[in-house]
Amino acid sequence: MRASLDASQPCWLLFVALVWLTLAYPVAGRADTVTDSVAAVEPTCRAVADRIYTLKEQGGAERQSSALLRETLAGMGFTVTGDLPVPADLVSGGVSKTAFKAEMAGNGPGPTVVIMLEYDALANGHSCGHNLISGSGLVAAAALAKLMPGLPGRLVVMGTPDEERGSAGGGKVALLEGGHFDGADAVLITHPADRWSLDQRLLSMKRATFTFHGKASHAAAAPEKGVNALNAVELTFHCADMLRQHLRQDVRLHGIVTTGGDKVNVVPELAQAEFAVRALDTATMDAAYARLGDCARAGALGTGASLEFVVPRVALTSPVVVPPLIEATRRGLLAAGVEAGQLKDWTEFVSSDLGRVGDAYPTVNVWFKIAPEGTALHSDAMREAAGSPEGWKAAVMAGTAVALTAYEMFTHPQEVEAVKQAFAAARAKAAGSPTP
Ligand SMILES: [Zn+2]
Repeated sequence: MRASLDASQPCWLLFVALVWLTLAYPVAGRADTVTDSVAAVEPTCRAVADRIYTLKEQGGAERQSSALLRETLAGMGFTVTGDLPVPADLVSGGVSKTAFKAEMAGNGPGPTVVIMLEYDALANGHSCGHNLISGSGLVAAAALAKLMPGLPGRLVVMGTPDEERGSAGGGKVALLEGGHFDGADAVLITHPADRWSLDQRLLSMKRATFTFHGKASHAAAAPEKGVNALNAVELTFHCADMLRQHLRQDVRLHGIVTTGGDKVNVVPELAQAEFAVRALDTATMDAAYARLGDCARAGALGTGASLEFVVPRVALTSPVVVPPLIEATRRGLLAAGVEAGQLKDWTEFVSSDLGRVGDAYPTVNVWFKIAPEGTALHSDAMREAAGSPEGWKAAVMAGTAVALTAYEMFTHPQEVEAVKQAFAAARAKAAGSPTP
């Protein structure tokens, strides 16, 4: 083979060189432009992520973290709006104090790409690593801000608070209903984890609170005069436990007793249980939810207690899977230095209000590896990883991938069109599928 590459075939060599330049240079050039930009902004972004890690503010109270991000983005040239109006039944007062929207227009009409940031902590600190979601998203936003004067379209950074209590609706659901995602063509986010993954599966989820009202009576002197509300809760759990055997493997049904009586010598007149129902698709979750409701009704019927059950307005959904967007992000990850063999499936499924965004707009989430495989989200070990130099290094790679993906959307209108079409087709298919 080597003999065929000698100087006796100059035309052939020229042809190869031209093909290489045509195909390879734009990819290399794009990656260089974005990674140079990342290198320039990375130290600033790290300082912000570290500060959010130290602040460890919990959902709805992320005032300093939100303020720091808003100031940083304003300093980078974004137009930042805080105090976003949202439905009053989801956030008291109808204003999300810790959410924000930062916008930057490019040099003309084009796609709207949204990068979402999360920054809420848990009781044990940033054990879900949301400081790194902010950090990596900020890396992407800051790198792109330097390039936007030469790009068509609009870059939006959405500060989305209160993710950990997402099913209460005060985070992304409130922002969606407030119209703050209107016009988004693609939405990008990252999340730290124990592996690199582009698996988009999340569990749909809905909560149920069952309140049983019975009749108090002395538990020894006159038990025959009482109606035991705690027994109704017990029956509900027993029925749910039996139901579980007949549910699909991905369905999760779990509950706690929140009220079970006050004194041992009084028949409980009030008892309450809270459940969550989850499944990989919303129709299956809804079907299991209806059957759990029947379990609670059985609890009431079997004991003579009355049941109070109001179905919550907010449910979390699974996101729509958008293959062209995942592929674009995969290219971004590979260009950022992640090896194809490192990309793994996700197996320990969770729910997030991210699913609601992904049900409304083409969305992709990048799971990035900051801890050894098997390290659980919300564990102390994950918290330590979220504050480590290795954690930051992975966050920068994830942020670079997000920037590259957004850059591809801004520079390739046909990619945006493919993403939109795939999203619409997947949604139509999901809407047409029968309820199991
Ligand atoms: Zn999280």
